[in-house]
Amino acid sequence: MVQIERNPTRSVQIGTVLIGAEHPITVQSMTATQTQDIDATVAQILDLERAGADVVRIAVDSSKDAAAIAEIRRQTKANLAIDLQENYRLAEKVAPHVEKLRYNPGHLYHHEREKPWREKVAYIAQVAADNDCAIRIGVNCGSVDPDKRDKYPADDSISPMIESAVEHCQALDEMGFTRYCVSLKDSDPRKVIEVNTRFAAERPDVPLHLGVTEAGLPPDGVIKTRIAFEQLVSRGIGDTIRVSLTVPNDRKHEEIEAGRAILEDIRQGRVRSVVDYGLQTLNIISCPSCSRVENEAFVELAQDVKEMSKYAAEHAITIAVMGCRVNGPGETDDADLGLWCGPNYVNLKRGEASLGQYPYDEILPRLKQELDQLIAQKATA
Ligand code: SF4
Repeated sequence: MVQIERNPTRSVQIGTVLIGAEHPITVQSMTATQTQDIDATVAQILDLERAGADVVRIAVDSSKDAAAIAEIRRQTKANLAIDLQENYRLAEKVAPHVEKLRYNPGHLYHHEREKPWREKVAYIAQVAADNDCAIRIGVNCGSVDPDKRDKYPADDSISPMIESAVEHCQALDEMGFTRYCVSLKDSDPRKVIEVNTRFAAERPDVPLHLGVTEAGLPPDGVIKTRIAFEQLVSRGIGDTIRVSLTVPNDRKHEEIEAGRAILEDIRQGRVRSVVDYGLQTLNIISCPSCSRVENEAFVELAQDVKEMSKYAAEHAITIAVMGCRVNGPGETDDADLGLWCGPNYVNLKRGEASLGQYPYDEILPRLKQELDQLIAQKATA
């Protein structure tokens, strides 16, 4: 057993669990069922709990989702976290029923003139305090406040994320709310290592929730996550983790099993160097899906994209496959080729440029056409 000296993070209570330096690292996951499908969501929560989930997150985008949370609460004692997007006002409807609220600073800058982000944070903090909830400040590479991004060179995606997180920590501190943790997620494990290492040096007191976002299909998704977690956790950074995998709903428990296996390997000293893993040069990133998915064919599409693109394994190309219109458009911007799924059509992008919408049964040949062109262009560049 390896002795790891943890970063001196403070204790933060999330329902029946505590995170921070003095407590074991907890493992989380997120439901991918429609939140309003109460039976399916409760069944998935139970499945995740059976696998050992300490906290389960649920996306809430509407008043109907919020109403479903009250009923879900009646049917489970699991520690529940709520994922808020732009509709942050739903916080007061869900907070009485859950243990944690997660907000993304990048989503609070919209309509800034009508209501500054600090007022929105103050509102969320007040709701959390009134309802015995913790908060997670969840910074994501694909949705950083544009003002922060513009301050730094285009090839520096790390500094804007850190500045955003630190600014929100300071805001909550000034409001007297300290029951919070922070996450800084990217789909590139090397960036996850860098951003969390830098943040941990700047705010060693703040518990960190670690994750590689859109890690994709197993086994690659587990490998990418392992690369980041091994480097961070073995250096004492990280208090709670989530492995994000693109898997069908009946296999969601694999996220918990993978997280627990990675932690156990780190405890036993079974840590390898980043270069040992031999990730393919072609990088397929795909989101783990959540209640925002509007067409269940999404997971199958991600699997088909992986299968179809195998012939390009040696090319340094990134293909992103995202499940919804909420985060899909932004989170595909950095990929060479991006797909994001609507109810009936899949949107195809090359970099930030849209190439149109295609029915689910037409998207693969169209994507292959673009991939072939990209490979040919790179060969002559
Ligand atoms: Fe959920 Fe959309 Fe993010 Fe996928 S991209 S995890 S569907 S919010």
